[in-house]
Amino acid sequence: TFLPAIAAGLKTTIGHVTNYKPTTIQYPEVKPELPLHYRGVHRLNRDEKDRVKCVACMLCATACPANCIHIEAEKAPPEWPDRDKFPKSFVLDELRCIYCGMCEEACPVDAIELTHIYDMTGLTRDEMNFDREKLLSVFDQTKDNPRDPIRTRRGKLGPASDFQTLPAVGPATSVPDQDRA
Ligand code: SF4
Repeated sequence: TFLPAIAAGLKTTIGHVTNYKPTTIQYPEVKPELPLHYRGVHRLNRDEKDRVKCVACMLCATACPANCIHIEAEKAPPEWPDRDKFPKSFVLDELRCIYCGMCEEACPVDAIELTHIYDMTGLTRDEMNFDREKLLSVFDQTKDNPRDPIRTRRGKLGPASDFQTLPAVGPATSVPDQDRA
Protein backbone atom coordinates (compact mmCIF):
# COMPACT_ATOMS: atom_id res chain seq x y z
CA THR A 1 0.00 0.00 0.00
CA PHE A 2 1.04 3.59 -0.69
CA LEU A 3 -0.68 5.10 2.32
CA PRO A 4 2.37 5.19 4.68
CA ALA A 5 4.50 6.84 1.98
CA ILE A 6 1.77 9.39 1.23
CA ALA A 7 1.38 10.11 4.94
CA ALA A 8 5.15 10.57 5.34
CA GLY A 9 5.18 12.90 2.35
CA LEU A 10 2.28 14.95 3.72
CA LYS A 11 3.95 15.16 7.11
CA THR A 12 7.10 16.57 5.51
CA THR A 13 5.09 19.05 3.44
CA ILE A 14 3.02 20.24 6.39
CA GLY A 15 6.19 20.50 8.49
CA HIS A 16 7.75 22.83 5.90
CA VAL A 17 4.58 24.95 5.71
CA THR A 18 4.28 25.40 9.47
CA ASN A 19 8.01 26.04 10.01
CA TYR A 20 8.36 28.39 7.05
CA LYS A 21 11.23 30.87 7.31
CA PRO A 22 11.97 33.20 4.38
CA THR A 23 15.26 32.57 2.65
CA THR A 24 15.22 35.87 0.79
CA ILE A 25 15.48 39.44 2.07
CA GLN A 26 13.93 42.71 0.93
CA TYR A 27 17.11 44.08 -0.64
CA PRO A 28 18.07 46.93 -0.88
CA GLU A 29 15.97 48.05 2.11
CA VAL A 30 17.41 45.12 4.06
CA LYS A 31 21.13 44.48 3.69
CA PRO A 32 22.54 40.99 3.78
CA GLU A 33 24.63 39.80 6.71
CA LEU A 34 28.02 39.30 5.16
CA PRO A 35 30.68 37.00 6.57
CA LEU A 36 33.41 38.76 8.53
CA HIS A 37 35.98 37.87 5.94
CA TYR A 38 33.91 38.88 2.94
CA ARG A 39 36.10 40.13 0.11
CA GLY A 40 34.63 42.93 -1.98
CA VAL A 41 36.07 45.49 -4.34
CA HIS A 42 39.61 46.72 -3.93
CA ARG A 43 41.10 49.90 -2.71
CA LEU A 44 44.57 51.43 -2.99
CA ASN A 45 45.67 52.82 0.33
CA ARG A 46 47.28 56.19 0.93
CA ASP A 47 50.31 56.64 3.17
CA GLU A 48 50.64 59.18 5.99
CA LYS A 49 51.66 61.83 3.43
CA ASP A 50 48.52 61.18 1.39
CA ARG A 51 50.51 59.61 -1.44
CA VAL A 52 49.52 56.35 -3.03
CA LYS A 53 51.11 53.72 -0.79
CA CYS A 54 51.89 51.37 -3.67
CA VAL A 55 55.59 51.17 -4.58
CA ALA A 56 54.96 49.51 -7.96
CA CYS A 57 56.81 46.32 -7.05
CA MET A 58 54.40 44.29 -9.23
CA LEU A 59 54.01 41.52 -6.67
CA CYS A 60 50.20 41.79 -6.69
CA ALA A 61 50.06 41.59 -10.48
CA THR A 62 52.42 38.61 -10.39
CA ALA A 63 50.41 36.81 -7.72
CA CYS A 64 47.04 37.47 -9.37
CA PRO A 65 45.71 34.23 -10.86
CA ALA A 66 43.18 36.11 -12.99
CA ASN A 67 45.73 38.47 -14.54
CA CYS A 68 43.51 41.44 -13.88
CA ILE A 69 46.01 43.94 -12.43
CA HIS A 70 47.97 46.13 -14.82
CA ILE A 71 50.56 48.53 -13.45
CA GLU A 72 52.84 51.00 -15.18
CA ALA A 73 55.71 51.93 -12.90
CA GLU A 74 57.57 55.21 -12.98
CA LYS A 75 60.67 56.37 -11.17
CA ALA A 76 59.73 58.18 -7.98
CA PRO A 77 60.36 61.95 -7.95
CA PRO A 78 63.35 63.24 -5.91
CA GLU A 79 60.99 64.50 -3.20
CA TRP A 80 60.02 60.86 -2.54
CA PRO A 81 63.40 59.49 -1.33
CA ASP A 82 61.74 56.64 0.55
CA ARG A 83 60.89 54.68 -2.59
CA ASP A 84 62.28 53.88 -6.02
CA LYS A 85 59.04 53.74 -7.97
CA PHE A 86 55.37 54.55 -7.86
CA PRO A 87 52.48 53.40 -10.07
CA LYS A 88 52.02 55.92 -12.86
CA SER A 89 49.06 53.84 -13.89
CA PHE A 90 47.25 51.14 -11.92
CA VAL A 91 44.22 49.47 -13.45
CA LEU A 92 42.29 46.62 -11.89
CA ASP A 93 39.56 44.86 -13.81
CA GLU A 94 36.91 44.24 -11.16
CA LEU A 95 34.85 42.08 -13.51
CA ARG A 96 37.71 39.72 -14.26
CA CYS A 97 38.76 39.46 -10.61
CA ILE A 98 37.82 36.30 -8.72
CA TYR A 99 38.21 38.01 -5.32
CA CYS A 100 40.72 35.47 -4.05
CA GLY A 101 42.69 38.02 -2.00
CA MET A 102 46.10 36.91 -3.30
CA CYS A 103 46.99 40.49 -4.24
CA GLU A 104 46.63 41.83 -0.70
CA GLU A 105 48.48 38.83 0.67
CA ALA A 106 51.36 39.44 -1.74
CA CYS A 107 51.70 43.20 -1.15
CA PRO A 108 54.77 43.95 1.01
CA VAL A 109 53.49 47.39 2.08
CA ASP A 110 49.74 46.70 2.53
CA ALA A 111 48.93 49.06 -0.32
CA ILE A 112 46.15 47.04 -1.94
CA GLU A 113 43.28 45.61 0.05
CA LEU A 114 39.85 44.23 -0.54
CA THR A 115 36.95 46.04 1.10
CA HIS A 116 33.51 44.82 2.10
CA ILE A 117 31.78 46.77 -0.70
CA TYR A 118 29.74 44.31 -2.75
CA ASP A 119 27.14 46.44 -4.50
CA MET A 120 29.09 48.21 -7.20
CA THR A 121 27.65 48.43 -10.64
CA GLY A 122 28.56 50.13 -13.87
CA LEU A 123 26.76 50.88 -17.10
CA THR A 124 29.74 49.89 -19.21
CA ARG A 125 32.51 47.36 -18.87
CA ASP A 126 35.05 50.18 -18.86
CA GLU A 127 33.56 51.59 -15.67
CA MET A 128 34.56 48.42 -13.88
CA ASN A 129 38.19 48.84 -14.90
CA PHE A 130 39.15 50.73 -11.77
CA ASP A 131 42.02 53.12 -12.32
CA ARG A 132 44.36 54.46 -9.68
CA GLU A 133 42.18 57.38 -8.71
CA LYS A 134 39.08 55.24 -8.45
CA LEU A 135 40.89 52.76 -6.23
CA LEU A 136 42.15 55.63 -4.07
CA SER A 137 38.60 56.98 -3.84
CA VAL A 138 37.46 53.62 -2.47
CA PHE A 139 40.12 54.01 0.21
CA ASP A 140 38.82 57.50 1.03
CA GLN A 141 35.31 56.12 1.40
CA THR A 142 36.18 53.13 3.55
CA LYS A 143 39.12 54.25 5.70
CA ASP A 144 37.00 55.57 8.58
CA ASN A 145 34.54 52.72 8.73
CA PRO A 146 35.08 50.52 11.78
CA ARG A 147 34.55 47.47 9.62
CA ASP A 148 37.16 48.61 7.21
CA PRO A 149 38.79 45.34 6.34
CA ILE A 150 42.44 46.21 6.59
CA ARG A 151 43.87 42.74 6.38
CA THR A 152 45.55 43.00 9.74
CA ARG A 153 42.27 44.05 11.38
CA ARG A 154 40.28 41.12 10.12
CA GLY A 155 38.76 39.16 12.94
CA LYS A 156 38.24 42.31 15.03
CA LEU A 157 35.35 43.69 13.03
CA GLY A 158 32.22 45.27 14.46
CA PRO A 159 28.56 44.40 13.91
CA ALA A 160 27.34 43.74 10.41
CA SER A 161 24.95 46.70 10.60
CA ASP A 162 27.98 48.98 10.06
CA PHE A 163 27.96 47.84 6.46
CA GLN A 164 24.92 49.98 5.87
CA THR A 165 26.60 53.26 6.77
CA LEU A 166 28.81 53.37 3.71
CA PRO A 167 27.95 55.70 0.84
CA ALA A 168 27.68 54.25 -2.63
CA VAL A 169 30.85 54.35 -4.70
CA GLY A 170 30.44 56.33 -7.89
CA PRO A 171 31.66 55.67 -11.40
CA ALA A 172 35.33 55.59 -12.33
CA THR A 173 36.97 58.96 -12.58
CA SER A 174 39.39 60.13 -15.18
CA VAL A 175 42.25 62.21 -13.80
CA PRO A 176 44.80 64.04 -15.93
CA ASP A 177 48.29 62.52 -15.83
CA GLN A 178 49.89 65.60 -14.27
CA ASP A 179 47.63 65.24 -11.23
CA ARG A 180 48.44 61.60 -10.70
CA ALA A 181 51.80 61.78 -8.94
FE1 SF4 B 1 43.71 39.10 -8.71
FE2 SF4 B 1 42.67 37.67 -6.66
FE3 SF4 B 1 43.45 40.23 -6.27
FE4 SF4 B 1 41.28 39.69 -7.75
S1 SF4 B 1 41.54 39.30 -5.54
S2 SF4 B 1 42.93 41.16 -8.24
S3 SF4 B 1 41.88 37.77 -8.76
S4 SF4 B 1 44.78 38.48 -6.82
